[in-house]
Amino acid sequence: MHVDSLRWMAQGTKIFFDALAGLPGEELDQPTALDGWTGKHLLAHVAANADALVKLTRWARTGEETPMYSSPEQRDADIEAGANRPATELRAWAAQAAAALDARLAELNKQQWTHRVRTAQGRMVPAEHVPWMRAREVMVHAVDLGAGVGFDDLPPDFLSALIDDITAKRSSGDGPALTLTATDRKATWAVAGTGDPTPLTGTVAGLAAYLSGRAAEGVTGPGGRPAPELPRWL
Ligand code: ZN
Repeated sequence: MHVDSLRWMAQGTKIFFDALAGLPGEELDQPTALDGWTGKHLLAHVAANADALVKLTRWARTGEETPMYSSPEQRDADIEAGANRPATELRAWAAQAAAALDARLAELNKQQWTHRVRTAQGRMVPAEHVPWMRAREVMVHAVDLGAGVGFDDLPPDFLSALIDDITAKRSSGDGPALTLTATDRKATWAVAGTGDPTPLTGTVAGLAAYLSGRAAEGVTGPGGRPAPELPRWL
């Protein structure tokens, strides 16, 4: 998983920055599909996320508790402030923060990778989870950039791992019970939740988009009915 995550983080970083490079500066001022966020908010968030994960690598290396964000309010205020910066500064910040995260992760020794650190959602996880946390951010937000990347452009093995991750998280939430069957691969997943499970079908890319709360093409229930709305995931 750890080795896969490092690969997905590298692939996702390339997909994200390639998409970003194709977006003209003024496009970043346009709204994204994410509620209330322009492209600049999104870019500030992706940059700040790398900075926050660098803090977790420091925690893993030194044992000194350095949380990702000092508070959820501070996290939001930093994104808001970042969204007011010029696009060229934001691009440079995002690229430099991503490179710093790569470098700090490469410094961890075998034992430090197992040290426990806290996610933004408050879970204690080994530092080995950091590359996965980053892969998820850059891959999914590459789609959110609106630069022409879709879920079906993301690596299939990453999409399967993403569905595994989200179905596990959603199974401890208060959303509807679901069973998910892929139409383009032999794979099924279940989400524990309220009510009788609603059977849904879709491509692996479509199911990943739906579960992550993004616009999903072709994910349907019995008789072609639309899939139920889901509560927030992260
Ligand atoms: Zn994010």
